[in-house]
Amino acid sequence: MYDPLHDKSPGCDEKYPDSYWADVAGIPPKHEGQLDRDIEVDVAIVGAGYTGLSCALHLAREHGIKATVLEANQTAWGASGRNGGFVLKSSGRKPYATMQKQWGEEVMRGIYHEMCEGVDTVKSLIDEGIDCEQQDPGYIRVAHKPSMFKALVSAAKLQQKMFGYDVQILSRQDLHQQYMADQNAHGAIRYQDGFGINPLKLAWGYQRLARQEGVKIHCATPVENWYEQGQNEKTLQVLHTPNGIVKAKKVVIATNGYTPNGFHGLVKNRTLPVLSQIIVTQPLSPQQLEACNFLTSNVIMDTRALKYYYRKLPDNRILFGGRGAITGKGAEDPYFSKRLLKVLKTNFPALQNIKYDYTWSGWLSMALDDLPHIYQNEQQNVFYSMGYCGAGVSFSVQAGKRLAQKVAGQDTPNIPLYQKALPKFPFAPFRRVGQWGFFQYGKVKDTWL
Ligand SMILES: Cc1cc2nc3c(=O)[nH]c(=O)nc-3n(C[C@H](O)[C@H](O)[C@H](O)COP(=O)(O)OP(=O)(O)OC[C@H]3O[C@@H](n4cnc5c(N)ncnc54)[C@H](O)[C@@H]3O)c2cc1C
Repeated sequence: MYDPLHDKSPGCDEKYPDSYWADVAGIPPKHEGQLDRDIEVDVAIVGAGYTGLSCALHLAREHGIKATVLEANQTAWGASGRNGGFVLKSSGRKPYATMQKQWGEEVMRGIYHEMCEGVDTVKSLIDEGIDCEQQDPGYIRVAHKPSMFKALVSAAKLQQKMFGYDVQILSRQDLHQQYMADQNAHGAIRYQDGFGINPLKLAWGYQRLARQEGVKIHCATPVENWYEQGQNEKTLQVLHTPNGIVKAKKVVIATNGYTPNGFHGLVKNRTLPVLSQIIVTQPLSPQQLEACNFLTSNVIMDTRALKYYYRKLPDNRILFGGRGAITGKGAEDPYFSKRLLKVLKTNFPALQNIKYDYTWSGWLSMALDDLPHIYQNEQQNVFYSMGYCGAGVSFSVQAGKRLAQKVAGQDTPNIPLYQKALPKFPFAPFRRVGQWGFFQYGKVKDTWL
C-alpha cells in the first residue's frame, strides 16, 4: 500500500479500495478526466477529498474563482472515501479544557464555533440534494472503564456549562436498554447531534455541486513535480502531471494524510500519517440484533487512548474501526482486521460466529499539537489545510471554506487554527518510533491505568 512517509506519489488512476462504501455507492459522477494538455489557471487545488472539493466549491460560490482540482487517483480515493462516516462537531484531539487553559475562553469558544459551523455546512450541502444515507442523529461516547465514565461526565458538564451543549448522561443500564448492550461499556454520554453517512457518496455529492459551479476536476492527474517560475507578483507555481503541465498563480495543498514524501517545503515534517483500519461485518440477523439489543444507528466511539469506533449501517451490518498497521507495507496484514473482529466480539459476545465481508484501511494525518491548521506561505501563493487527527469529515469542509477565504485574500477568524503553521515534528525521521511508543503506552493505559 502507498506509504506517504516513503513514496513520492500516491499512484496514478488507482482504483478505489475494496471497501463497503465503494461497493454500495453506485456509479461515480462525471469529471473532466485526466489532464492531457498544458494549462494556465488562477488556482490549482491538489487533492479531491473533502478539503479540496469544499475549497473549490466555496471559491466558486463565494469568491467567483473557478479553480482546477488535480487528483492523483479518483475523487475521494484518500481518507474521504474510506472513513467511518461519523459527522461530528469536533476535529483534532485537543480537549476544550486544555484549550481554555492555554489560550483562554474566547479562543476556546472561537474554535467550538468553527466546529459547529463545520457540521452546519455539511448539513446544508446535504440539503441541496446529496443522497448519502444519512442516519438518525446521535453520537455516543462509551466509557471503557468506570474511571472513564467519571471523566466523561465531567467533560459533559463542562460542555453543558460553557456552550449550553445538550449532552445526555447514560448509565450502563440506560445504554444497554435504550441503545445497545455493549458488554465493555461502563456508562456513556450521548450528544444529540453527530450522525452517520456514506462518506464516498457525500464526496461525490460535493463533486457534483462543485462542477455545477464551473469547477474543473481532473482525476488520474498526480502532481509529480513542483517548482516556481518568475519572481514577485509574476511568480507562477509550475505543477508537472503525467500528461500536462499546470501553471498556477496560487496552489492549495489538500492532500492531508496522503501528502507524498518531499511534496512541498511548506508542509515538510509537519504531520504524521497514521493508518486507521475498518471492518464491516455480514448483516446481522434479527436474532443477532435482538441478542445485542442493537437498537441504535447512532455513531459510537469509546474512551480508550487507542480508540475503537463503530456503528450499525442501514443494512444492519456493523462497521468497526480502530488503529491499523504502522507502515504501508504492513497494511494488508489480516492480523489488524482479525484484531478488530476479536474486540467487536468482546463487546457483543452474542456475535461469536459473525464474520466480516469487507476490510480496508486509510491514512489520517496527526499534528504535533493535536489540532488542524490552515495556513499559507509568506508570499500568499501556497496554502494548505491538514492535521485533522482522524476527525475531519465535517471540519475539512469548514477548513475548505476558510482556505477559500484565504486564497481570495480575506481575513479568517483570529484563532490558532487559522493563524499559525502546523508545528514541525522534532526528530522527524523517527516519527514512527514515537508512534510505536505511543501505541505501547496506549495499550498499558487502556488496560491497567
Ligand atoms: C479509516 C478512516 C476512518 C476515519 N473516520 C472518520 C470519521 O468517522 N469521522 C471523521 O470526522 N473523520 C474520520 N476520518 C478522517 C477523515 O476521513 C479525514 O480527516 C478527511 O477525509 C480528510 O479529507 P482531505 O480531503 O483533507 O484528505 P483526503 O480525503 O485524504 O484526500 C487527499 C487526496 O489527495 C490526493 N493526493 C495526494 N497526493 C497527491 C498528488 N501529488 N497529486 C494529486 N493528488 C494527490 C490523494 O489521492 C487523496 O485523494 C477517518 C479517516 C480514516 C483513514
